[in-house]
Amino acid sequence: MKQALWYPYAQMRGLEIQNQVVSANGVRLQLKDQRQLIDAISSWWCVIHGYNHPKINKALQDQAHDFAHVMLGGLTHEPAKRLAKKLATITPNGLNHVFFADSGSVGMEVAMKMAVQYWKNIGVEGKHRFASLLRGYHGDTTGVMSLGDPEEGMHHLFQGFLTRQFFIKTPEGAGNGKGAIRTPIEVSLTHLRQTLEQHHREIAAFVCEPLIQGAGGFNFYPPEFLTEARKICDEFNVLMIVDEVATGFGRTGTLFAVEQANIVPDIMVLAKGLSAGYLGLSATLTTDKIFDAFLGEGYEKAFMHGPTFMGNALACSVSLASIEVFQQENYLQKIQRIENILREELLSIQANCLRETRVMGACGVLEFHDPEGHKGIQEFAANHGVWLRPFLNVAYTMPAYVMNEEDLRTICAVMRKWCEQKT
Ligand SMILES: *Cc1c(COP(=O)(O)O)cnc(C)c1O
Repeated sequence: MKQALWYPYAQMRGLEIQNQVVSANGVRLQLKDQRQLIDAISSWWCVIHGYNHPKINKALQDQAHDFAHVMLGGLTHEPAKRLAKKLATITPNGLNHVFFADSGSVGMEVAMKMAVQYWKNIGVEGKHRFASLLRGYHGDTTGVMSLGDPEEGMHHLFQGFLTRQFFIKTPEGAGNGKGAIRTPIEVSLTHLRQTLEQHHREIAAFVCEPLIQGAGGFNFYPPEFLTEARKICDEFNVLMIVDEVATGFGRTGTLFAVEQANIVPDIMVLAKGLSAGYLGLSATLTTDKIFDAFLGEGYEKAFMHGPTFMGNALACSVSLASIEVFQQENYLQKIQRIENILREELLSIQANCLRETRVMGACGVLEFHDPEGHKGIQEFAANHGVWLRPFLNVAYTMPAYVMNEEDLRTICAVMRKWCEQKT
């Protein structure tokens, strides 16, 4: 049977993927054809400890020995209870309640439903739309697709099918690299204020990826935007949902990106790094204010959501082990070291094909003038022993935090070499 396996974000005509992984260890992928590649993007940003981590493997095996999974409807278990407590402890003060699901997209769907039902439960009608930042990406399911950038994003084809949301100009090009400010924070905040002023009666929540917008093209913006946006949301009775699926667990340099803005969102979503690339898991966290609005008699005010794999015991055990390793082995220091190297290596690249280079935490981005700029970089990098996957007009690295200096400099050297030979 030809092409039984349908690949993600891929034109399937004639597609044959040669890079067959047979094992993976640390930051290295071992391919069937004997090649080894350094994974510069930690498998879509989730493999934060590298592959085949002994402590996480052990947690997984121990849990499998007890039980892999039981439903969370009417049953409970230690791994889910412990992880909920742990997350409530390590996230910003006030996020005290955790709803588990199985992917970032679904975690965000849960956030949207929570926000809409919150207003209904407290007797405010008509708030069931959202305001969202342009250039955002929040997942591939239909609810969250509506929050993604309506034109630049991957889902413009589905526009007629999706709820129309309000889009806010994103602060752009504001530092952390070399390049011009394209949209100052003030412009963006004014747009947010005007939109909420005019439409707050319809808007349940403002949604954003904090500091780094990922799959929409790696736009970075400074924390002041979030601090001010939080105030504007409060002023107009609009909830604030922060999508930390990509930024959570250290990627921006702090455990969570919102810490840099010193704010507490009403709802915060974690996935990707949460389960370290082992199993699908997301956590939607919220405050007492939101949680309490769902309390009452019977089902009327209850949150009617419950994925089959909710609170999967293997995933929760893996996540607990992952957080333990993160804390015990001082990962924030590792991330700082990665940031320093990325800055040194990437910000100094001079090349005409580049529009901007930028670095934040363990994320280094080359933005080209257009997608032609990186056409061929994937093969080029693979030939130099590095796994990259560029998209739109960017090539980037988001390494596992355990990556050593030599491997990281190898990745950077490959990125530099590509740009310099292009110019
Ligand atoms: C990846 C991502 C999602 C979607 O997560 P999945 O696990 O792929 O469903 C949502 N939001 C952000 C910011 C992401 O980076």
